[in-house]
Amino acid sequence: MGLSNLDQTWTSALDKIRTWARVNSPWAIHYNSGSCNGCDIEILATLTPRYDLERFGVKLQGSPRHADILICTGPVTLQSRDRLLRIYEQMPDPKFVVAVGSCGLSGGAFQGCYNVVGNIGDVIPVDAYIPGCPPRPEAIIHGVVALLQSLQAPPVAPAELRKNGHSAAPQEEQE
Ligand code: SF4
Repeated sequence: MGLSNLDQTWTSALDKIRTWARVNSPWAIHYNSGSCNGCDIEILATLTPRYDLERFGVKLQGSPRHADILICTGPVTLQSRDRLLRIYEQMPDPKFVVAVGSCGLSGGAFQGCYNVVGNIGDVIPVDAYIPGCPPRPEAIIHGVVALLQSLQAPPVAPAELRKNGHSAAPQEEQE
């Protein structure tokens, strides 16, 4: 085996280890860019023991510099736009964004308000959308797990999801 083949094998093995670590223990940061707090309460319910997102290895922590996933809620207001951009830029590559709730997808109830600059995808690239107003914890878990699964399978990489405007979560059933 030549040196370049050895390099290739080594690089590919390292990539596999990195992907394995990322998929099994992603660190997430949560940011509210202008939501009414409804979606944020559902995210808290998702993270706490009743729904227990941590069982999939997802850990919430405070610094964007340590985060793999940005979980973002709400439309983007004029006041929060620069902060959202700064948080996104501080995250190390590769980084992924999950937009939670109808407001994050389209501006929702706040669409057209004088202080709203748009939805999350208008400001930063979004990898997975979770619809609902607010989405249930089950939908949030489904969206995050779908994103993690997409990291394991290169043909359905987040860039592809982004290109197709793919929603990671199923439509919620009406109660
Ligand atoms: S989607 Fe609904 S619950 Fe979530 S921020 Fe918008 S209005 Fe509030």
